[in-house]
Amino acid sequence: MYAYSHDPETGGLLLADSLSEFSKEPRPVWASELDLLGFGDFWKYDSSSAAPYLWAESNIYWYRGKKVAKTNGGSLYEKPEIEILRDENGEEILPKGTSLIPVDVEAMLTKNHLRIEALETLTVKKIYDIYRKYDKKLDCFHVAFSGGKDSIALLELVRRALPRTAFMVVFGDTGMEFPDTYRAVDAVEARCKEDGIAFYRAKSRFAPEESWRLFGPPARVLRWCCTVHKSVPQTLKIREILGKRDYTGMDFVGVRGHESATRAEYEYENYGKKQKGQYSYNPMLEWTSAEVWLYIFFRGLVVNEAYTKGNARAGCLFCPHSADKSDWFRRMNYPDEVGRFERLIREGVDDPSMDTYISCGGWIERRNGRDVKDNEPKISETSADGRTTLHIAKPTTDWREWIKTLNDSVDLEAADSDGTLTVSYPTALSKTATGKRLRQCFIKAAYCVECGACETNCRSGALSFKNGLHIENCIHCGQCHNIEMGCYRADSLKRPENEGIKMKSINTFADHAPKPEWITDFFAVGTEYLMNNTLGPMQIAKYKRFLSDAGLIAKNKTTAFYETVKAIGVNAEDTWALVLVNLVNENPQLEWYVRNMDVERVYESQEIIGALAPFGVKEKDARSILKSFKRLCETPLGKRLKFGTFVDTGHALQSITRTKPEKPSPLVMLYALYKFAEKCGGYWEFPLSRLMDFTIEAEGVSPAQIFALARDEMEALLNGLARTNPDFVTFTTTHDLELVRLADDKTATGVLSLFN
Ligand code: SF4
Ligand code: SF4
Repeated sequence: MYAYSHDPETGGLLLADSLSEFSKEPRPVWASELDLLGFGDFWKYDSSSAAPYLWAESNIYWYRGKKVAKTNGGSLYEKPEIEILRDENGEEILPKGTSLIPVDVEAMLTKNHLRIEALETLTVKKIYDIYRKYDKKLDCFHVAFSGGKDSIALLELVRRALPRTAFMVVFGDTGMEFPDTYRAVDAVEARCKEDGIAFYRAKSRFAPEESWRLFGPPARVLRWCCTVHKSVPQTLKIREILGKRDYTGMDFVGVRGHESATRAEYEYENYGKKQKGQYSYNPMLEWTSAEVWLYIFFRGLVVNEAYTKGNARAGCLFCPHSADKSDWFRRMNYPDEVGRFERLIREGVDDPSMDTYISCGGWIERRNGRDVKDNEPKISETSADGRTTLHIAKPTTDWREWIKTLNDSVDLEAADSDGTLTVSYPTALSKTATGKRLRQCFIKAAYCVECGACETNCRSGALSFKNGLHIENCIHCGQCHNIEMGCYRADSLKRPENEGIKMKSINTFADHAPKPEWITDFFAVGTEYLMNNTLGPMQIAKYKRFLSDAGLIAKNKTTAFYETVKAIGVNAEDTWALVLVNLVNENPQLEWYVRNMDVERVYESQEIIGALAPFGVKEKDARSILKSFKRLCETPLGKRLKFGTFVDTGHALQSITRTKPEKPSPLVMLYALYKFAEKCGGYWEFPLSRLMDFTIEAEGVSPAQIFALARDEMEALLNGLARTNPDFVTFTTTHDLELVRLADDKTATGVLSLFN
């Protein structure tokens, strides 16, 4: 909430009066981290000091108000390199041999205590107010406890706000926590017990060894682990405690907006966003990490030792959502535990270059079950004489139970033989809602291992896995079908649709992505430049590919699109926004950057190489794809539109970052919408949520993803367009469904005429 600065006097942080717009998320650095990184070769300090010595913001280390060192690189197997920073005269800012003085925590707290207390009072009041608003209306209030620093601070705030018996604490034990987290949880549990606060632990019925084998290793877009190991056990535990299956509760969560761009979009109070049918409240939404740490010191709360050992986060040990260079600290600190998950990946996935696959993070990019070992498809399908037949090998649950979730009766024929279930139904049913749900029943029958997700989705209590799957008194609400493919396991093991078909090559420019001067010259003389230039044959071939995918040339001639953007202006933002839309939709390399790189996240080169590996891209090609990104950043796409940035040390391209492009003008958005609809094969009508869901596989790329737009930005643009160009687009909001309708007699090319 408050801005902060580094305080040379105490060696700590100093909160300011002004509000924080952007936090660099500082964290204290203890001697253990300095030891691990090798700072002991430069400075003197007491390795047993209880107080931290420095502060780190990402990879920059601060000592008493000065930036003194940074780390470069680092991955699971590779130690980050330390670099001692120098001043303009080339002198070390913190000279070798300096004896470090620990942060004077007491003095730091004395200087900050008024603001910390104000922050505490404000947050406690928020918690109390929300409690008053929902007390007597809800069945329970609970703290979702993880053992991390935010949740330790959150618990203290809730403890101060509410009567001790008014809430409970539920620790979601994923079985994959840091050993230090378990020690912190034990200490917090003991404090809760002393205070008379109910504390529970919730754990999946599967050990990670079992779930990773059954589902395949988790990945960024295959998030079964959060459900199976966290939300399902917590919900089942609360049901058990309350003795009520259809309870409605409020979950206090330690989410903070400064943690990530996605979290910055969160609101304080939510219904159904974190968990279907449940409320959640994020009282620390505006806190920075500086405030969390000051608060932990101020109230003498438990410090999870994981943070003292260089770990910026304490979540799951091997988490696909936060794999980064701090993985090295995890491996150094907890070699056995990290080794356990490395083994699970090695045992679960077939990849020819396994070390690279793990170390460069390729494993987190898994999008389907293609490389999962022993993953034979369980369902095959044939169609003949107006009927669709499914052959299901070794179903794991009884389809007759799942079928009870259908609203309508269907013409179904089923036969069981040698462990294979064969069912057939009219093909005409396939496109109906009943047909889709029917199909999901058989997917569930084929894949279900009773992870509990369907049970927790069923709030009527009809579905239970007690003594095997049993469905009774189903009200056909469909909530158990409200899961990707109907089953998390089936989704994680699904075969890629394009299996057997050669994938489009992502490396479209080799080492010859366009240079700014090529673009200037091309716009000066048009196709004349393609015949009269100093480029080599490979350079010109790749440049033509760029111009063609950008829509600027076709068959070696300039296009109507070229004329339009030339009239708009070679340096105009709209020009480059339109070019970007074309490139992302037509060029697999630009498409890959946009679909696979989170905006504002700094990707070390090794990370990108790892992320490309599951797409079949060899390291050499991956390096070309990296270099092309840098080149593109130097063209107006980067300079004018702010598509991305890079860090090049002169010896090597260290990192690349996709940045949020300039906000598109309404007409560019309209063009992007039509382009999306056309690429998706005439998809003229879709909900806004479809544009915001980037996990759906489709040919067209959502304008929201191209321009990194948040939902409210999209809403504003769509509302504006519906007012100014109603013959091209309508945008209606009914029953929570925000529907975008494009005119099916208009085209993206037609939108270009509006620029005249
Ligand atoms: S979630 Fe709904 S459809 Fe599924 S079993 Fe429960 S009541 Fe039936
Ligand atoms: S069908 Fe439902 S309960 Fe069974 S494994 Fe799949 S998601 Fe879990």
